[in-house]
Amino acid sequence: MQIIHTPLEMQECAMGLKRAGKVIGFVPTMGFLHEGHLSLMRIAREQCDVLVVSIFVNPTQFGPNEDLDAYPRDFKRDEALCREAKVDFLFYPEPTNMYADNASVWVEEESLSSVLCGASRPGHFRGVCTVVAKLFNLVQPDLAVFGEKDAQQLRIIERMVRDLNFPVEIVRGPIVRESDGLAMSSRNKYLSPEQRKNAICLRKALDAATRMFRKGEHNVEPIRSVMEEMISAVPEVRIDYIEFVDEQTLCMVNRIDRPVLVAIAVRVGSTRLIDNGVLGSMSGAHKVAVKNAL
Ligand code: AMP
Repeated sequence: MQIIHTPLEMQECAMGLKRAGKVIGFVPTMGFLHEGHLSLMRIAREQCDVLVVSIFVNPTQFGPNEDLDAYPRDFKRDEALCREAKVDFLFYPEPTNMYADNASVWVEEESLSSVLCGASRPGHFRGVCTVVAKLFNLVQPDLAVFGEKDAQQLRIIERMVRDLNFPVEIVRGPIVRESDGLAMSSRNKYLSPEQRKNAICLRKALDAATRMFRKGEHNVEPIRSVMEEMISAVPEVRIDYIEFVDEQTLCMVNRIDRPVLVAIAVRVGSTRLIDNGVLGSMSGAHKVAVKNAL
């Protein structure tokens, strides 16, 4: 595995690989790797000749009062995990190398970004789109794998790729969970043992929603109020949002009469956690129709 520190070196390396006809698979991350990240690497590995992983805690996607400085980092451990995962190139740039002091061009998605985490974290998805666009230009991937854990981010990246004609296929990786159901996240490290136990309420609320839907409840409000009640009863957990949105357009829905993304964001103490699931799963035919409509 080769570690690359500068954007120029990364781009030159990628261009060489392209000239040699290699299929480049890419997994962008912010490091402090866990099984969720590793699962994306395995998905990419199966479909490419050369696997590139980036580790970059992107300052432009953090708000002024967010956890940029505190974000967990452990490069030595990440490096070892990437070696085990048979990563070919690990791109690990310094923030000062990634953004010019007077950088003034941004990539902004204007529709899907206005709801859910986009509403709670102004500017977040502008930072995400900009860094992912830059990384695509540097790594030149044929395919890039993003996790369903960040469902809104995934759909925004798919939209960016469509609207700006990036020559890259976006592959969706399923959510990887701890044995008790908590979605894996680098931020889980912030949780005290008590908070860690309490955090399971996200998954429990999603499971309750699935049960109600399967029993025939297709109206959103009764399901949402059960979820709200369950989560509000847990100490130290405050709801940011529980939303039911069309799986593709992220438009709010009142009835589950199509594939609907149930998205939750909470704070457990001061740690922000998100989770989601899809109700009314997509049939093969619907998937094709959605893809064509994109
Ligand atoms: P992050 O390092 O948090 O920016 O995440 C990098 C990539 O890993 C993103 O595409 C995330 O959606 C994905 N990811 C994070 N956690 C999980 C998880 N538990 N399961 C699957 N993918 C994940």
